[in-house]
Amino acid sequence: MSKIPFGKPFIVGKELFYIAQAVINGSISGDGLFTRRCQEWLETELHCKKVLLTQSCTAALEMTAILANIGPGDEVIMPSFTFVSTANAFVLRGGVPVFVDIRQDTLNIDERLVESAITERTKAIVVVHYAGQPCEMSVFESICRKYNLFLVEDAAQAILASDGSRALGTIGDMGCVSFHETKNIISGEGGALLINNPELIERAEIIWHKGTNRKAFYQGQVDKYTWVDIGSSFLPSELTAAFLFAQLEQAKRINSNRRSLFEKYLNILQPLANEGFFSLPYTREGLLSNGHVFYIICKNDIERQNLISYLAEQGINAVFHYVPLHNSPAGMRFGRTAGELNVTEDISRRLLRLPMFSEMSHVQVRYICQHLALFYHAKN
Ligand SMILES: *Cc1c(COP(=O)(O)O)cnc(C)c1O
Repeated sequence: MSKIPFGKPFIVGKELFYIAQAVINGSISGDGLFTRRCQEWLETELHCKKVLLTQSCTAALEMTAILANIGPGDEVIMPSFTFVSTANAFVLRGGVPVFVDIRQDTLNIDERLVESAITERTKAIVVVHYAGQPCEMSVFESICRKYNLFLVEDAAQAILASDGSRALGTIGDMGCVSFHETKNIISGEGGALLINNPELIERAEIIWHKGTNRKAFYQGQVDKYTWVDIGSSFLPSELTAAFLFAQLEQAKRINSNRRSLFEKYLNILQPLANEGFFSLPYTREGLLSNGHVFYIICKNDIERQNLISYLAEQGINAVFHYVPLHNSPAGMRFGRTAGELNVTEDISRRLLRLPMFSEMSHVQVRYICQHLALFYHAKN
């Protein structure tokens, strides 16, 4: 068996053809034909009021911080068990991340701990749908209504996943998805801002157009194209959008393929989990996962390290994440915690991600699982 990487970028068919079309169209800067096609696809498939393509999910998160009017000292409640961009986007505007623990089962921010983290300075809650598993959105919606807070979904990992009835990323005021090459649907770097609160749409378009009223000007609503608000270079080039559109056309097939790899892992590893060697990812009955991440929870960090080394000897690249944000150098400088973060600290020492990528075969999944069995049975 040749080496199995942890992840691998892929193309599904028409990417290069669409890029050539974009070039032939004569303009490869942003907000062109392919950008509009991607946005319309996402609006239709996710049932979202307005989608703006961005250069990354990070960029989309930065837009949400501007749209939520985050300023110096404003607090934003979020998990510590997440990627740095969730916090960085708000710190860039002077905001203070307030880190709350996660649930033991979904590894998502624990909705039961959020209300006690709210202060006079709280402006927003950012939830992260870890591995495409939904946070308890109805609880977050009612807390945000009660305290008049913005609700932002970091749905970087959650494209086309749902909470049973609504697409993740379309439930809060705003949602952010990622098309980074490590995610399910890719364009190298890439992302999108999903705007669900209609009051935010007009300003979002201005921020997206570098703080200008370019859109109103194009539509003939104003006679001058001018600087009206803060903004930045958030929109991707047509080359990125062309690549992305080819992937979006195949998105459902890509996700169902990943789901079948996820289920294969789950079925083969269940007996080992039953023997108590490790635990398996949380899955909710009847809920469509997007198979973004497959992980196991080891007994402790030493066993995890031994397993990583053993798998590496077999040519299998397994990795862990996240190093929690709350006790990272920047997290301690810019943020604070609300309550204990015991689950976050415990899980981040024990979680191990197994290889998962679009072109992975079931044979490769079986090979990895065989080696997990050998590792655990040799040891015990
Ligand atoms: C990948 C990821 C991001 C960042 O996405 P980019 O598109 O690379 O900026 C943010 N948050 C989470 C939870 C992620 O997994």
